[in-house]
Amino acid sequence: ESKLELVRSHIRSFPDFPKKGIVFRDVCPILKNPAALAALTDLFEEHVRTSYQQVDLIVGENLKGTTSVLMEHGVLMLPAVPPGLDARGFLFGPLLAQRLGLGFVLIRKKGKLPGSTTSVTFDLEYGQAEVEIQDDVVDPGQKVLIIDDLLATGGTLCAAWELLKQQQAEVLGCLVVIELLDLQGKNKVKPLPVFSLTHY
Ligand code: IMP
Repeated sequence: ESKLELVRSHIRSFPDFPKKGIVFRDVCPILKNPAALAALTDLFEEHVRTSYQQVDLIVGENLKGTTSVLMEHGVLMLPAVPPGLDARGFLFGPLLAQRLGLGFVLIRKKGKLPGSTTSVTFDLEYGQAEVEIQDDVVDPGQKVLIIDDLLATGGTLCAAWELLKQQQAEVLGCLVVIELLDLQGKNKVKPLPVFSLTHY
């Protein structure tokens, strides 16, 4: 079994979650299976090593991922997404960063990080969200890669990108486990390159 097949076979799809008409892609089985998690980390590591000469930092995000749900079915879902669905941006990043001998930095919803921070507000389909980063964690000019579990509309990724630009980081690209092709998130984040392991 190839590494990619091993990863793919550990993504579960749940129809009608968190609401009727939505197919939720669940990466939790990857985390539960050490071989699948190692394969995923191998694939990301191989990609980074072959695609980039120098990377200084891996940045993960954990925002409320609701835009995709909103766009996909035209349903206003923002308050309906259960709390706790928004923490997967941090699951894969530290593992990859360790492999590459790099540090890992967090972008979070506003109000979660102590000390001096910078925040940006970004539009969701319905309303706005605010995300932030600590001011002393990225040096100007550092080359960073953003990692997340899933690319849907690209709204989350754009917010992280904007924040990193404000910190004068050089964002090289983004890595995701899953890309939802219908939503064309890659277009939204152009020209930022997005590497996705699997597509639906
Ligand atoms: P975007 O901002 O529309 O690209 O949404 C991406 C974010 O939504 C990611 O951070 C995901 O965690 C979350 N997300 C959206 N749909 C799903 C899904 O089907 N499974 C898991 N996460 C999802």
